[in-house]
Amino acid sequence: MAAKDKLIVALDVDSVEKAERLIDTLSPEVDIFKVGIAPFTGFGKEILDKLSLDNKKVFLDLKFHDIPNTVRNAAREAAKRKVFMMNFHCLGGEEMLKAALEGAREGGGETILLGVTILTSMDKDEMGKIGLKGEVEDKVLEFAESAKKSGLQGVVASAKETRKIKEKCGEAFLVVTPGIRPAWASKADQKRTLTPKEALEEGADYIVVGRPIIEAEDPLEAARKITKEMEG
Ligand code: C5P
Repeated sequence: MAAKDKLIVALDVDSVEKAERLIDTLSPEVDIFKVGIAPFTGFGKEILDKLSLDNKKVFLDLKFHDIPNTVRNAAREAAKRKVFMMNFHCLGGEEMLKAALEGAREGGGETILLGVTILTSMDKDEMGKIGLKGEVEDKVLEFAESAKKSGLQGVVASAKETRKIKEKCGEAFLVVTPGIRPAWASKADQKRTLTPKEALEEGADYIVVGRPIIEAEDPLEAARKITKEMEG
């Protein structure tokens, strides 16, 4: 797979105009765009229509967590729209994850379904407050196994957890990693970062990059530098 097919750019912007401009600018170098809850809430339909018109792939990062029937319906709608990739909180339980899989199949079956394990913003203490006992890493692995058992194709996880997830769930189980920072970019609020190349070396299948590209003075040049780094 070429580097370009492994790079996902997070469209974390606050207006549809900015999103459209970024998609146009990055188009020669980027094929997969991530639409998260903020842009989706503000102008989701416009972005999804634009991406579909431009033949771009969509990672719908809405982290669904609801009753199985509702999640099944959401997954079906996304699959009908040919969404490339979408995700679900493993905390919703295996019945919910299996319902997501059924819904995606009903909608066409081409969408990659990923689990969200433990949010990287949570530590042991925060986990304990919602009744999750033990170490964060153990829970991440437990949830990854639960996603696999339910039929999902992979998880979103920190690049630093990739090796262990692959060891537990197999090489073919996809790991999509945010928190990527090339050496030349600011870390902003991301604490445990890896460079694009390091993430791939750890076994990541896809990397998600937001600010180092979308806030760069020249976003296309930044994306080019990153794909080059991934290949080099
Ligand atoms: O700008 P930056 O490269 O940090 O953006 C990373 C993207 O990945 C953001 O859209 C963020 O919400 C998402 N993400 C993350 N950490 C997670 C899950 C998702 O940074 N654990």
